[in-house]
Amino acid sequence: MQLVIDSQNVSITKDKSGGYLLGTVKGTFGNVISVLEQEFPFAINSTPHIFSNYIVTKFNNCLKGRSEKEINIFGLKCSADYLFDINLFLNDSDRWSYITKKGVKQKGKYKINLTMRDIEVWRVHHNITKSVIPFDWNNVDYSKGLRIDDISSFYELFYGLLYYYAFNGMKLVKCEHCGRWFATDNFKNKYCHRNSTVEGYTHLVCEQAVRNLYQQIKRKRKVIYNSIINQEYNTKKYVEYEVIEREKETFIKKCNEYKSKLDEMATAEIITEYLTFLNSYRGEMKNGSN
Ligand SMILES: [Zn+2]
Repeated sequence: MQLVIDSQNVSITKDKSGGYLLGTVKGTFGNVISVLEQEFPFAINSTPHIFSNYIVTKFNNCLKGRSEKEINIFGLKCSADYLFDINLFLNDSDRWSYITKKGVKQKGKYKINLTMRDIEVWRVHHNITKSVIPFDWNNVDYSKGLRIDDISSFYELFYGLLYYYAFNGMKLVKCEHCGRWFATDNFKNKYCHRNSTVEGYTHLVCEQAVRNLYQQIKRKRKVIYNSIINQEYNTKKYVEYEVIEREKETFIKKCNEYKSKLDEMATAEIITEYLTFLNSYRGEMKNGSN
């Protein structure tokens, strides 16, 4: 098996006849993690506690003579260890870069400006003895691509990818909307080029989905707000002024709570939660507008 990263795509080739296309250079890292997450969902938000439980269970099973079912992905042997390990690497906040958000310099959550030192740490910790070979062998320039021969594990696959990104000054970022990783040239890119995971918006890429969802939220919020302040007129029933004021305040307070969460990060979860709140609001229902 050979890992091949050219300037466009990443693939694992078995022999001349077959192989796996893993995706674009910028998307592959996140694609591989997504595949592992599908296979080992318990390792997604790995903490040292979950990880140690996993190791203990694995060890006990081993003693009982029950070994884990072996899975192959992209022709490579696969277990949850790889996901735990790459998450440990990515979740280490010492590795996160400083960014400026609203004029304030702060540590960017899940924004990693990879250095060759990070790659060396990954290589040594995972006992990788295979070397990356640049396409441009004469100039030892990795911008045109690289390959690793005889790869046999996800550690080596990640090594090749991380090496390429670090050498070419690319950064790793977790999409602020869908939570999947991608490589980018600039931290200004907050969203990946995959499709949104929010129901009804899956035909749009994350950035466009966020924009449309914001519009939708703004519109629904306005409709509800109007239905609160105009409820006397709408229902033709007398409502005390204080009751309307209180409802208005409660509604605005709740919306502002969501808004500050969204300002922090417009994740699919928070947007969905906010929309569910708006959609189920009695004012919205009464008004019949959706
Ligand atoms: Zn995304």
